[in-house]
Amino acid sequence: MPGRTIGIVGGGQLGRMLAMAAARLGFHTIILEPEDKCPAAQVAGSQITAAYDDPDALDTLAVLSDIITYEFENVPVDAARVLADKKPVFPPPRALEVSQDRLLEKQFLRDCGIKTADFVAVDSQQEIDDALAQMGGKAVLKTRRLGYDGKGQKVFDQPGQDTDHSFSELGSVPLILESLVPFVAEISVIAVRSPDGEVMSYDPAQNHHKGGILRRSVVPADVPQSSIDAAKKAADTILKRLDYVGVVGVEFFVNSDGEVLANELAPRVHNSGHWTEAACVVSQFEQHIRAICGLPLADCARHSDCEMYNIIGDEVSQLPALLKQADTVVHLYGKAEVRPGRKMGHYTRLKPKHLPA
Ligand code: AMP
Repeated sequence: MPGRTIGIVGGGQLGRMLAMAAARLGFHTIILEPEDKCPAAQVAGSQITAAYDDPDALDTLAVLSDIITYEFENVPVDAARVLADKKPVFPPPRALEVSQDRLLEKQFLRDCGIKTADFVAVDSQQEIDDALAQMGGKAVLKTRRLGYDGKGQKVFDQPGQDTDHSFSELGSVPLILESLVPFVAEISVIAVRSPDGEVMSYDPAQNHHKGGILRRSVVPADVPQSSIDAAKKAADTILKRLDYVGVVGVEFFVNSDGEVLANELAPRVHNSGHWTEAACVVSQFEQHIRAICGLPLADCARHSDCEMYNIIGDEVSQLPALLKQADTVVHLYGKAEVRPGRKMGHYTRLKPKHLPA
């Protein structure tokens, strides 16, 4: 109940927005993050400045928190399990384990009966060359672990393209080769599950990336209703299979015939769900806090259509112009240093909701 303390592992913008949502419901928050004065700690009650796997820090976090969550998927699974031995941790550490390894993740999705791109584990240059030939020369090579925003990936989209050194270029680490999906749209579903098993989801956003970074999310997505239904159903299955509590983000490709293929899941609030803070009564951040605290979930319906844009690097200088736009909700993350490619904030432009005829 309000008055209690929520521990959050990770101090980035997602942790910041979770802490703000928690505060609105009367909870205290404490952040575990090695970077001092991180975006989340600026709006939280306190920060433990230490590595995510520091045993003393984990112990302190567990003592000071009533319940613990996390804001990024690369929290060490062992650290999450150590915490889970002492206090409730949501989402369950198993969700971290599945999402941290692209091979395990794709196998899990298949086990759930959810379609994905074809994939195979590759652990040497020879295995890459053989698997690529089998996939007709078109594929995406990815590190199994620790890839984000298109980092740790190589696309082969021209038959006969040179693969030389791609194993060593990606760090000579375990890799996965996926068939190149000829998608017409990328969508994501933000879904939530409560401790008593209730599942809800926001309508999918259609996502546009540039250089591997999400630039824009548009709601509603311009895809057939059958694709929307299939994506929501897949998210529902994932949540149930993981006995999940909290918010998840699941990304999908949509093919020209409307078929939906799952790409990846993030066991946390998600960048492509930031629009919910402007276009819904209750945002993904508050839904997550409600879910992990066992409070009633809110309706995921939106009152407006919208487009969410990430503010990257020096685009943050557009702030005065953005603030003059009456239909636009701006959110900055409190990052002191502007760096190329760094997510500094986002804004959501609202539009009247289009009602089907
Ligand atoms: P990921 O890190 O898996 O989210 O991939 C980043 C982006 O690369 C995706 O949003 C897609 O635009 C593209 N991508 C990843 N995997 C594939 C694939 N198997 N086929 C086609 N495009 C892909």
